[in-house]
Amino acid sequence: MSRLVLLVVSLAPLAARADYMDHFVVREDVGVHKAPYLGNAEVLLMPVEVAGFPPLDLDRLYAFFAADNPQGFVKFMETASLGRYHPHVNIGPVIRYTGCPLDTTKFPGCVVARGDFAAFAAGINLIREVVRRTNEEAVGFDFGALDVNGRRGTPDGWVDGVMLLTNMPFGGIAFPVGYFNRGDNLAGATGGPLIVDGVKVGHVAIAGDGDLYTMVHEFSHLLGLTDLYAENRTYPGLQLSVMGAWGYDPNIPLHDAESRFRLRWGNWHQVQGKQKVVIAPAEGTGEVWRLGTGDEYFLVENRGPGQFDRSFTTRGLAVYHVDRRVKLAGEEGRFQDRILDCVNCDAFHPYIMNVQADEKFELQQPQAKFSYEDDLFRDGAFLGADPSGVPLSADHPVASTNWYSGQPSGIEIGQIRVSDDGAITATLIAPSEGQCGEKLCDEGEACAPLTCESPGESSAGCQCGAGQGPLVLGALLLLLLEQRLRRRQQRVFRA
Ligand SMILES: [Zn+2]
Repeated sequence: MSRLVLLVVSLAPLAARADYMDHFVVREDVGVHKAPYLGNAEVLLMPVEVAGFPPLDLDRLYAFFAADNPQGFVKFMETASLGRYHPHVNIGPVIRYTGCPLDTTKFPGCVVARGDFAAFAAGINLIREVVRRTNEEAVGFDFGALDVNGRRGTPDGWVDGVMLLTNMPFGGIAFPVGYFNRGDNLAGATGGPLIVDGVKVGHVAIAGDGDLYTMVHEFSHLLGLTDLYAENRTYPGLQLSVMGAWGYDPNIPLHDAESRFRLRWGNWHQVQGKQKVVIAPAEGTGEVWRLGTGDEYFLVENRGPGQFDRSFTTRGLAVYHVDRRVKLAGEEGRFQDRILDCVNCDAFHPYIMNVQADEKFELQQPQAKFSYEDDLFRDGAFLGADPSGVPLSADHPVASTNWYSGQPSGIEIGQIRVSDDGAITATLIAPSEGQCGEKLCDEGEACAPLTCESPGESSAGCQCGAGQGPLVLGALLLLLLEQRLRRRQQRVFRA
């Protein structure tokens, strides 16, 4: 495929398809719809204190967003991203209100319920006012300093990320102010993103009740992720994820394997054929093992207690069944549909399902609680085909690697052994060909699988160096040639 055609293919969705919180259905819209999620970022936190509610604990707030807090916001993002994303949090002056800054006829008691669409209009006015006052009251601070990153890792005219933490009972929301604003843009014009000191503010993560942990979740929306808990409460939704059914407690879970894979925060291993593998802990190595291609596939990762994930009582493989055809869409404004009808709302066919080792589907129940001992895949656990071919449902709750259509996938996960050092060995089986050609993006880290072929055929272990004689050089050249050929064959895949 020629360079020109490639360019057209990768830019085509830009005009028609781009949205907030789409789990990277589109990945070209950093700036307008997403905050940069790789590299250094200068982000702003605006504390907002309203009289009549418990005051913000500023010491705690400063500590939580400090770069060196081992369990704080920055270390969490750095750990989850394998150091590929470094936010630096600038904390603005406390913006104080003597009374409720919202229309109390619409919001009695100044309480904003989560998912209240009336909050959108009220939210815009509040955000505009807080941004304007921050710019005014932060003497000597230039909003231009908040744009050091963008889609290409360089300043792009958009701030790298803005958070608003208030002591009001606001719940949490990641608010696309640029999409909804029909009023003043703070730069003498009307509508669209706010513009301060020449840079644009397109969206703001908001957390109420002074809740620092909610902010970790809301900020992850700015990076491009959608909600993975079940808003309809028929069951809790995805477990083991900062975007899922997490109680916003101090034990922050990592992002799930699919979210890290899409953020390019993982180290992606694609399985082809039968492979006996050693899977290292996700925290520290970012390993994500993918079985299957296209929109529907299985992901496997090694999770257990660490610096984060401290709710885990044991270590094991977390297995996910992913189907990106479920309610994900990249058309502008469709994020509202996902708030009303969430991608993980269907317990038996969500976007991302926790496959449970005990095969009991207890996580599909309304009051479900994740059992680390029973639900993680540990010694002796196995997942394979359901020969009946009947699609998974509440009436046919049979754990398997079958596709949602009921068709067997040929995928198997077994011979699992958890070692004392935290590594987990397993035998993974995927189709024996055609698995290695997909890419997330054209260039850069984690765009392509780190490994695909079984170890016997792989060059991953090659310690080839210069100056080791013509034989090594010749092999190296062949390898380069092979990689170039392979790259040509690879399709740009956009799920
Ligand atoms: Zn959310």
